[in-house]
Amino acid sequence: MRRNRKVKILATLGPSSSDAATIRRLYDAGADIFRINMSHTSHEKLGQLVAAIREVEADCGRPIAILADLQGPKLRVGAFPGGAPTLEIGQRFEFVAEKIDGTKERVHLPHPEIFAGLKPGHVILIDDGKLRLRTVSCDGKVAVTTVEVGGKISDRKGVSLPDTTIGSSALTPKDHADLLAALDAGADWIALSFVQRPEDIEEVKVIVGRKAGVLAKIEKPQAVQHLDAIIQQADALMVARGDLGVEMPLEQVPGLQKRITRAARRAGKPVVIATQMLESMIGSPVPTRAEVSDVATAVFEGADAIMLSAESAAGAYPIDAVATMDRIAVEVEQDPIYTTIVNSQRAEPEATGADVISQGARTIAETMGLAAIVCFTASGATGLRVARERPFTRIIALSPQLSTARRLQIVWGLHAVNTPDAENLAELVQKAARVSGEEGFTVPGDKIIITAGVPLQTPGATNLLRIATIARDGISGI
Ligand code: PGA
Ligand code: MN
Repeated sequence: MRRNRKVKILATLGPSSSDAATIRRLYDAGADIFRINMSHTSHEKLGQLVAAIREVEADCGRPIAILADLQGPKLRVGAFPGGAPTLEIGQRFEFVAEKIDGTKERVHLPHPEIFAGLKPGHVILIDDGKLRLRTVSCDGKVAVTTVEVGGKISDRKGVSLPDTTIGSSALTPKDHADLLAALDAGADWIALSFVQRPEDIEEVKVIVGRKAGVLAKIEKPQAVQHLDAIIQQADALMVARGDLGVEMPLEQVPGLQKRITRAARRAGKPVVIATQMLESMIGSPVPTRAEVSDVATAVFEGADAIMLSAESAAGAYPIDAVATMDRIAVEVEQDPIYTTIVNSQRAEPEATGADVISQGARTIAETMGLAAIVCFTASGATGLRVARERPFTRIIALSPQLSTARRLQIVWGLHAVNTPDAENLAELVQKAARVSGEEGFTVPGDKIIITAGVPLQTPGATNLLRIATIARDGISGI
């Protein structure tokens, strides 16, 4: 089973998509990575979702990546047991530190640190900025506000405070517990929300070690300021447009998306474009023209992955949303303009064996019209450098480590396969030929190009380029 596109699709799981049968349908429709949002997932549910994904993985015989998204210091209101009220412009509304039931007049705000920093005049935004309230007074326990932009407010909606300084680190006690549970469950990627500084990632990496990759969600102005240092520290990035568009002027988000995508591509770190990509498909089987164009823009920019949130987690059409993304991506990547745009933003190779060999593999493969680039990568590092070249040719990444093969599913263009290492050069050629045939990339007579570091067990020593022809049996190389 192989995809007809280079960009990857990340689908968030939730009430609309939590059983193995639905996850299988999402996979078949095109989802490469599944995201579990720890804001809404208990540890018990996490275990069930991971088990369901691994069942699908075993069934379809392809490594699948699981991304556990930590909530971070995301502020949320409490619950409205009596139903979601609608706040009217001009009305008074209170936020209360003490645990109370929400009503049209007040709601619990379970973050004591907010009450310490909130001052009269400060804006409080609810539900990605859909509602706006202004603080009249705050005595450390109750904040009295006036509603400036009204609307429906429901359970656990997000709170943003653009004017208020809040003293909390990127890893809350809940995140710490969720992180340990996610690592224990076998998540391949850990996403860190509301990253502000590269130190936030360092802190998490100490705990994660080599068990998972760490993805930094860029959704705060502070992260944009420290973008280069954060890219250096993180294993991957997400343009988290939901909170980014609340914390920063909305009209700056498209430019930031391009800047972050280009910087990540230059660094060879995978970048995911997220939030509201097909938002209307939460309730409609057909997206808007503007949404189709938005997905296309991310693909044209050469982003590694595009993401579905509520569309696949809580919408009425999760499978259609994935299938729609897949169709848009396939179409865009066949457009001659796509190659021109992606090529024009290709970064120069750095002076390393991995980079010059990746560049060589691309130019040779494209010039000779080869069927595939087969890259042997134990840690995944070489796979990332081949993908950084954004070759037109298909790429197969072979890793003896299942964890690497899974993690690489987030990377542009990499068809990752878990297979034991070859013992010698002859075996390496045979393995490359056999896997590319078995995975449906080649037929007898096709030529492939192989990149590897020999001897194979030495990390960071990419030093081999070998052209091979697929033999008449379809599974050996000459
Ligand atoms: P979230 O992150 O869905 O966890 O908030 C994505 C975003 O903010 O865009
Ligand atoms: Mn967010």
